[in-house]
Amino acid sequence: MAVDPVIDRHPTLQLVGRTPLVETRLFRDRYPSARVVAKVEAFNPGGSIKDRPVARMLADAQARGDLRPGQTILDSSSGNAGIAYAMIGGLLGHDVEIVMPDNASRERVQRITAHGARIRFTDAILGYDEAMREVQRRHEAAPEQYYFADQYSNESNWQAHYDGTASEILEQAPPDITHFVAGVGTGGTITGVARRFDEVRPDVQIVCATPPEFPGIEGLKPMGPDHLVPAILDASLIDTWVDIDVDKAREFSVQLAAEGLFVGQSAGAYIFAVETVLADDPHAVVVTLFPDAGDRYFSTGLWDVAPKLASP
Ligand code: PMP
Repeated sequence: MAVDPVIDRHPTLQLVGRTPLVETRLFRDRYPSARVVAKVEAFNPGGSIKDRPVARMLADAQARGDLRPGQTILDSSSGNAGIAYAMIGGLLGHDVEIVMPDNASRERVQRITAHGARIRFTDAILGYDEAMREVQRRHEAAPEQYYFADQYSNESNWQAHYDGTASEILEQAPPDITHFVAGVGTGGTITGVARRFDEVRPDVQIVCATPPEFPGIEGLKPMGPDHLVPAILDASLIDTWVDIDVDKAREFSVQLAAEGLFVGQSAGAYIFAVETVLADDPHAVVVTLFPDAGDRYFSTGLWDVAPKLASP
């Protein structure tokens, strides 16, 4: 049960977290003694994993007095955090302003505005880094007007996963887990879960899926030397980095849909990384996450697979 007084006041926030863990059978034929399980994060009320850190960041900021009545909540986002800020910030009685690249899927944009938040777009060619720079410029121009949540530097972000996501995995996953696979948007998920595992299950290998610059994967940051590294990412916790093949990641999203798991693009990327783990260790027991649902990507072409319509 939620114990945080802010979360306790709002029934919707009690729906955040405690998501189901499901086993995928995608690799059953090729790796019969491996097991692959995933937390289905679309079960959160905002439809993605980002409800967890956003609820925690805003609750902590209110409790500390950093988020004051009348202030507008401001942050940059690839979209899912924007939805969570819009939904939860609105619930807490604040205006919300989100800065995001202008190629964010229409579904994300519409959901953010449905909750009454404002969006400022940055040029998608300049990536998430430009949204991060623009949000800083806006905050510096009017620091009193805004509460800048700064999810890339906010310690409450990874703490939400250390306390929530990791505890749930430890309760729900098979005890013989060997690997945890995730990626980096802000680095909150992988840092929080890996930090907890480092304390209680240091034998578990931490695997990070990283996308190429182009065409990229919505929600995941490319990590090369030319990119901003999120302040909360603790890269020393990561044992293996896997470069994602975007086309193959997309095929995995389609295969998961055929299994009844209608998940987004980063879930396919994580399963791509899972496959590389199994190729090295056919007996691996892998835990990963499906960060959001497939219907957040209808307008992006992710599902433009050859239609199998019955002929008349
Ligand atoms: N997948 C999706 C679809 C996301 O929106 C995000 C967050 N941007 C992530 C993965 C990565 O999560 P984190 O910010 O915790 O690194």
